[in-house]
Amino acid sequence: MKLSDYDLLQLTEEELLELPEEILRRLSVKLLIDLKEARERLRQTSRNSSRPPSSDAPWRGTGDKNNPEDTLQDNPNTEKETESNGDEDDEPVKKKSEKTSPKPPDPGQRKPGKQPGAQGYGREQKIPVTSVQAHYPCACALCEKTLTPDRAKAYTAFETVDVEWAVPTHPGLRLTNTKHVYYEIACDNCGHCTRQSPHQQVADVLTPTIYLSEWRLVGPGLAALIICLTYRMRLSRARIQEFLHDWLGLAISIGTLQATLHESGAALLPVEEELIEAVQNSGLLHVDETSWPQLNHLLWLWVFSGQDVVAYWIASRGAELLETVLDNEFKGWLMSDGWHVYRRYPQRLRCWAHLLRKATGLQESLDPTAKQFGTETLWLLNTLIEAIYIARGQPPNQKLNIAHQQALADYQSRCEVMSAAVHDKTRALAREMLNDWDAIFQVLAYPHLPITNNEAERALRHWVILRNNSHGTRTDDGSRIFAILISVIETCRLRQQFPWVYLAEVIRLRRSGYPVPKLPVALNHRV
Ligand SMILES: [Zn+2]
Repeated sequence: MKLSDYDLLQLTEEELLELPEEILRRLSVKLLIDLKEARERLRQTSRNSSRPPSSDAPWRGTGDKNNPEDTLQDNPNTEKETESNGDEDDEPVKKKSEKTSPKPPDPGQRKPGKQPGAQGYGREQKIPVTSVQAHYPCACALCEKTLTPDRAKAYTAFETVDVEWAVPTHPGLRLTNTKHVYYEIACDNCGHCTRQSPHQQVADVLTPTIYLSEWRLVGPGLAALIICLTYRMRLSRARIQEFLHDWLGLAISIGTLQATLHESGAALLPVEEELIEAVQNSGLLHVDETSWPQLNHLLWLWVFSGQDVVAYWIASRGAELLETVLDNEFKGWLMSDGWHVYRRYPQRLRCWAHLLRKATGLQESLDPTAKQFGTETLWLLNTLIEAIYIARGQPPNQKLNIAHQQALADYQSRCEVMSAAVHDKTRALAREMLNDWDAIFQVLAYPHLPITNNEAERALRHWVILRNNSHGTRTDDGSRIFAILISVIETCRLRQQFPWVYLAEVIRLRRSGYPVPKLPVALNHRV
């Protein structure tokens, strides 16, 4: 290194522009040497340097399914029509030589996706080109002189297959195949050759194996269609392959489908903040969780369902996720089941459906005490439900807790007696009633609030079926991507907006390096 961190700290853009030419020249040489050395170091692995294998990034050469070099069959360097000599530093994806980094064969474990030697898809297929887009550099990278396309030479090209809406926001698709041609132009002023290259960046939050790149076989609209088929239609990757082949004549590998889902989820990650904000601003929030397998771990799929947001996360069942999402900012009503982590929220509501089911169970018991307590509980809850329904049709602030004070007091003393009952389930229900008394009967003071958590249970139902079909997710990244994708889909649907138009737009913008646009606002009528 020619220049230390301390040297660099002292160098500012303004000062650089003021420097006399001779000094500037000598400084440029130092900077060039340092830059080349730094770029080389960035590419060092245990394969091409003395670095120990433990210093390699975990996704390199482990057969991890997140490894884009294993799954990404629209990897530009495997592309037939690529004319690039592959010398460019800013080449969109890794060199082919890196793809073949040695991997110890593991006979016991078959890695997911395409097997070595299996016939590939996608690259072989020739789809008629519907349009050509030329990408020229505008100015010389060295002397900044404006470049004119008349001396341009194409150096690489790739095709992006896409589906586009014939009329945006309305059904009806058109298949397109755009050939993107990238040019280089030699400067007639200084002789330096400048190349225009496709935009590419590493997704900011996830492991740096996920790239957002314009260099893709799958266009943004087609990516949105794949997301729709995967999540809303719950089709397996193999079924999606079949669908795209039979209906659009597209041959796309499982690896490319997988990479498309990962890239799309990564593109959407910044939306998480907007979702959290919408959750925290909800006046009434339904929260629920259901078990979710992630390879060998048992995790939970959480849902936060508010007036104009449905957000999902996959996490442990502890209080961490609740604390992170609600973060002391949430001041509304929280409807949940009896799971203890919810107890920290004073404005809490309990789902009566669970209590009614438990009381019905007791009423059908063969134990006389249980039968009696079950009948009493059912009678009280049903009487109160009837009163709540009537109160909802009347002016607000009907204080049912005062009107039913005596019945509640009687029932509370019954619960105190029953909390020492010999019958397990009787004792459990009595204790649950006492522990959660305020949360259960709070609704009597505010009868317009809900008495069930159906909203949250409905928001989970579709994904429970998907879980049962697909056996959950496999990695932390996979879980995070799944959650953000379904949150955006369901929030758009709740707001009566087409999720697919928004998704395609996000993917298009993020691939070109733009920030994520805001979620569409709620419409009053269904599109
Ligand atoms: Zn020049």
